[in-house]
Amino acid sequence: MHIHEYQAKDVLRSYGVPVPDGFAAMDADEAQAAAGKLPGPVFVVKAQIHAGGRGKGSFKELGADAGGGVRLARSADEVREHAAQMLNNTLVTVQTGPDGKQVNRLYVEAGSQIDKEFYLSLLVDRATGFTSFVVSTEGGMDIETVAHETPEKILTLGVDPATGFMPHHGRAVAKALGLTGDLAKQAGALAGKLYTAFMARDMEMLEINPLVLTGDGQLRCLDAKMGFDSNALSRHPDIAEMRDETEEDAKEIEASRHDLSYIALDGDIGCMVNGAGLAMGTMDIIKYHGGTPANFLDVGGGATAEKVAAAFKIITADPNVKGILVNIFGGIMRCDVIAEGIITAVKEVGLSVPLVVRLEGTKVAEGKKIIEESGLNVISADDLDDAAQKIVKAVGDLS
Ligand code: GDP
Ligand code: MN
Repeated sequence: MHIHEYQAKDVLRSYGVPVPDGFAAMDADEAQAAAGKLPGPVFVVKAQIHAGGRGKGSFKELGADAGGGVRLARSADEVREHAAQMLNNTLVTVQTGPDGKQVNRLYVEAGSQIDKEFYLSLLVDRATGFTSFVVSTEGGMDIETVAHETPEKILTLGVDPATGFMPHHGRAVAKALGLTGDLAKQAGALAGKLYTAFMARDMEMLEINPLVLTGDGQLRCLDAKMGFDSNALSRHPDIAEMRDETEEDAKEIEASRHDLSYIALDGDIGCMVNGAGLAMGTMDIIKYHGGTPANFLDVGGGATAEKVAAAFKIITADPNVKGILVNIFGGIMRCDVIAEGIITAVKEVGLSVPLVVRLEGTKVAEGKKIIEESGLNVISADDLDDAAQKIVKAVGDLS
C-alpha cells in the first residue's frame, strides 16, 4: 500500500528526519491558509497523487504550458491561484500513463533554496535478503534514466538484518553521496533515521528524490514516496487509515474485499485460475500463443461459489476484456463449486464475450455436467495448452 507525499513526510517527521514544513490542503481556501502559516517568501504547491514525475507533468485540461504538478509561488494569493488550477484537474506524468490522475489533494510547503539534489532510497533486496540503500549523486531526475545511461552513478549498500544499521553504514551512504565533514555527519544520521522508520513501520520501499542540500547547508528530504507491506498493515492501524482508495484500481479494491489475489493488467484475456503458480503459468501460456492477459487472478484453494461469482464479475466488469479463460485444477478446490460460481455470476451479469473453461481434478465430471446443462455458450478445453489456444483464437476472431 502506498501513501501520499504529505502523509509520508508526517511519518518521516515523527522519526526526526528533516523535511520542510508544510500543510495538506483539500481546496483553494485551505491552500491559501496553509501559506499563511508558513514563513515564505517562497512556497511550493504540490499535487498529491500516487505517482512520480509530477514536476515535469502537465494538466490535461490546461495544456502543456500551464505548468506541472509541483509549482513555486511567491505569495499566499499565488498559492491560491495554483491550487485552484490544479484541484479537480487531471495530471499526466510519465508514471500515471496517458489517462493521468485527478488531483484531489494538495500539499503546500515552505520553499527551499536548492544547492544540490541527491537520490536516496531504501528497499528490500530480495536477492540478498537485506534492506538496501540505493544512493546516487544524480538526484532530482528520473532515476530510471540514470540507471540506464550512467549505471555506475548508482550505488547499493545492503544492511544485514542481523546487525541492523551501524555507524559504518551511515559513513558509506555519506561517501556515496560525495559528502564530507558536517554534511557527512548529517547524511549518516539521516540514513540511520530513515532505516529506523523503514523497519519500524514495515515499509517495502522509501524513496527520497530529491534529497537536497539547501543554501544554508542543511540536508533535507524534498520528496518522499512510501510503500508498505500490506501483510503487516494490521500492526500499523494509523498507516492503514492513510489509505486513499481513489488512488487504487477499483477492481483491485473490490477483489481485496472478497479476499481474492487480483492484479489488473492491460491485456484483453481475463483469467480465473486457482493457485498463484498456475495463474502465472496460465498467463505465460496465453502470451506464448500470442494473447495478452487482462489480469492475474488467484481465487485461492478453498473458494466458495460466491467468491468465484465475485471474481467472475470483476473480470467481466473490465471493459478491456474480450474473452475469458477459466483454468482450474481441482485439488482442494472442487470443480463443481467453480462451475456453480460461474453460472451464478453469468445469470446475474450476463456473458458477452467468449468463455473457455478448462477443468481438471476433484469432481471434474460433476463440474463439466453443471456447465453443459446450464446451456451457457462455453468452449470447453481438455488441457492448458488447448485452452490457451482456444481463447486466443476466439478473441482473435472477434477483431
Ligand atoms: P516529482 O516530480 O513528483 O518527483 O516531485 P518532487 O517533489 O520531486 O519535485 C520535483 C522537482 O521540483 C524537484 O526535483 C525540485 O527540483 C523542484 N522542487 C521541489 N520543491 C522545491 C523547492 O522547495 N524549491 C525549489 N527551488 N525547487 C523545488
Ligand atoms: Mn521526486
